[in-house]
Amino acid sequence: MTAFTVLMAFQRETEALAQVMGRLEWDQQTVMPPGAARQRAEEMAALESVLHARRSDPRLADWIAGAAPPDAAGARALALIGREHARATRIPLRLAAETARVTSLAQGVWAEARAGDDVGRFLPVLAEVVALKREAAAALADGAEGQDARYDALLDEYEPGATAAGLAAMFAELRPRLVALRARILGVGRTPPALAGRFPAEAQLRLAREVAGVFGYDFGRGRIDLAVHPFSSGSGSDVRITTRIDEADPLGCLYSTIHETGHAAYEQAIDTAHALTPLGRGVSMGVHESQSRLYENQIGRSRAFASWLHGAMARSFGDAGAAGPEALYAAANRVVPGFVRTEADEVHYNLHILMRFDLERDLVAGRLETGDLEAAWNDRFAADFGVAVDRPAHGLLQDVHWSAGVFGYFPTYTLGNLYAACLWQALAADLPEAEAMVAAGRLGPVTGWLRERLQRHGGLAPPRETIARACGFAPAAEPLLAYLEAKFGALYRL
Ligand code: ZN
Repeated sequence: MTAFTVLMAFQRETEALAQVMGRLEWDQQTVMPPGAARQRAEEMAALESVLHARRSDPRLADWIAGAAPPDAAGARALALIGREHARATRIPLRLAAETARVTSLAQGVWAEARAGDDVGRFLPVLAEVVALKREAAAALADGAEGQDARYDALLDEYEPGATAAGLAAMFAELRPRLVALRARILGVGRTPPALAGRFPAEAQLRLAREVAGVFGYDFGRGRIDLAVHPFSSGSGSDVRITTRIDEADPLGCLYSTIHETGHAAYEQAIDTAHALTPLGRGVSMGVHESQSRLYENQIGRSRAFASWLHGAMARSFGDAGAAGPEALYAAANRVVPGFVRTEADEVHYNLHILMRFDLERDLVAGRLETGDLEAAWNDRFAADFGVAVDRPAHGLLQDVHWSAGVFGYFPTYTLGNLYAACLWQALAADLPEAEAMVAAGRLGPVTGWLRERLQRHGGLAPPRETIARACGFAPAAEPLLAYLEAKFGALYRL
C-alpha cells in the first residue's frame, strides 16, 4: 500500500463520518423530539471530537508528504486534505467540541427566541457562540495581521480564496446600481398583487415534489421534509432537502424547494468516482449558491417558467391564485422592501446580504458586541430599507446562521447570485432555445448544461476557476446588474 492509498482510505472514513454528522443535523432540524436537545448537543460534541481528531491526526502530515498522487484529481484531493489538516491542527480539540456543543444548543434557543420574539433570551447564548468563533478565528488566522485577517480565516472555510476586502470591493460595485434600481421601481408606485386564496399544505407539498422532479431532483437518492429554515444536506447518494409551508403563500414553499433542489442537484450530479473524497462535494458555498439561485431565479422566476407553473398550480389548487401566467410572473417578482431575507425579491436580496456582511465582520473583529447588535441591526435596516424593523423575528432573530456559529457564510449568497448571472449568460448563449424549453417545463437540457459544465466536477477546481471554466469567462458583477436591470426594467416599465 502506498502512502497515497493509505491516506485516501483514511480520508474516506473521515468523509463517511462527516456525512453521519450531517444526517444528525438534518434529524435535529426535522424530526428530533424537543426533549432530546441536551443529549443531542453531547452527541454532536462527541462526534465532532472524533472528526477533529481524525482531521488533525499527525500521521496525515507524513502521508501527505510521502504521497504520490496518480493524476490531477488525486493531486487536488491531496491539496484539499492538506488544507483541511492545516485548519484542524490550529483548532484545539477542546474548542472544536465546545463549539459543537454550544452551537447545537444555541440553535434550539434561537428557534424558541424567534417564536417568542424574545431577543433577550437569545443574546446570552449568542455571546457564547461569538466568543468561541472569535477564538477560532484568531487561531485560524495564525498570527496574520490586518483588520479582516480573522474574518478572512472564517470566510475561507466557506469560500476558499475569497477575502473580505475583495468581497467588499465587489459589493461596492453592486450597491449603487441596486439602490438606484430599487428607487426607480418603488418610484413607479405600483406593486403587482400577491396571489389570492388559500393553498392547502398537502397540495403545496405535492406540488413541491413535482417541481423538484421537474428540476431534476433524484428522489431515489433524496427526500423532502419540513423544517423551520429550509436547507439541503448530504452528498453522494443521500442528499436531502427541506421546505416550509404557509397556506396563504404557496410561492414561499415553491421557491424554497426550487432553491434547495439547486443545491441538492449539484451534490447529486457529482461524478460517483469522487464520492467520499474531498472532491465529492460542492467546491464552495458561493458556487453552491450559484446553482440554487440560478434554479430559483434565472429559471424559476422567469416569465417562461411562470407559464408552465401557472398550469401546474391550477391543476394542484384548482385555482392558481393569479389571473394568468403574466400575473403569476409579476406576483413572483414583486419588489417590496420586506424584512425577511429568505422572502426578499432579487433586487432587495443582496442589500440584506451586504448588511449582514458588515455586521458579522464587525462582530468577529470585536468592533461590535452582541449587546449592541440589535440596535446596530435595526439602525442599518432603517437606513438601507427605509422602514423600521417591526419585531425581532423579522430582524435580528430571522436567520439561523449565527446561532449555528456560521460566520463568513452570508457573503457567499451574493457571490452565488453574481456567479449565477454569469452562468446564465453563458448558458443562454449556448442554448438559444432554453427559454422555450423552460416554458414547456422541459428543463433537462438546461440542467444538463449545468451538470456537464459545472456540477459533475465537484471540488476538482477552485471556486472561481470552476465558474470561469463553466462560463468561458472570468466571473464579474456586470452580468448580474445587467440581468436585474433588464428584467425589472421590463416588468415595471421603467
Ligand atoms: Zn442556499
